[in-house]
Amino acid sequence: MSLHGSNPTLPSLLLNSHTDVVPVTLEKWTHDPFSADLVDGKIYARGSQDMKSVGIAYLEAIRRLKKDGHAFARSVHLSFVPDEEIGGADGMEVFVGTDMFKALNVGFALDEGIPTPFPSFLLFNSERAPWCICCTIKLINVGIKLTARGNAGHGSVMLQGTAVERLLACLDKVRQFRAEQSGKLYKSDNLIRDAGKTFDVTTFTGATDARFLRQMGIPAIGFSPFRNTPLLLHDHDEHIGIDVYLEGISIYQSIIASLTS
Ligand SMILES: [Zn+2]
Repeated sequence: MSLHGSNPTLPSLLLNSHTDVVPVTLEKWTHDPFSADLVDGKIYARGSQDMKSVGIAYLEAIRRLKKDGHAFARSVHLSFVPDEEIGGADGMEVFVGTDMFKALNVGFALDEGIPTPFPSFLLFNSERAPWCICCTIKLINVGIKLTARGNAGHGSVMLQGTAVERLLACLDKVRQFRAEQSGKLYKSDNLIRDAGKTFDVTTFTGATDARFLRQMGIPAIGFSPFRNTPLLLHDHDEHIGIDVYLEGISIYQSIIASLTS
């Protein structure tokens, strides 16, 4: 979905969201997860945090900006993609490789973050790389496969240079790398304070479709502007407060206005 700006030669803004959700365990929910029941000021629904709420908030923010007569100099595009929850291989990963995507001339993108249980917000400028290491048999079709070869012989001999020894040396390097990266992961880069709100910029501990944009050289920020909210992504009784949600829409309004001016 596109809204064309007055200067289509300028790089555009992409607002991405995924339309798939994770499954539910019905008996664990106190409300129908697919009815969006409004109870005590909260909307209960699968996707109310991750991330149908975000896709709808983009639309409402743009509707309000249009109604207020905002002058969009840059074009803004909204992508609603499938399969994020299973890795995005048939979703965003394919989309960013198409001519249709290249023609959008995306210069900057927003994608999902997570709500925060505290009064500040989280902005993600990077995320964990979803690598998997498989040492014995190929269990999954992504990742690194390690094969070690070594000396074999009779079990009564204390053999040296066995495949297991070599594999352990290799895994130890992986462990060291993981420890180094883990130190970076939980380091917050900086704080942004704007209009009385605090935004903590850090690395996302999960994986999102934003990585496919970053791999194309497009700066992408993961951001779900919902605070003072229990983290219930993928959990039972996922919900979001109405007041929190409306504040999130206003925040998008101001961000999208700035990014498209
Ligand atoms: Zn998500």
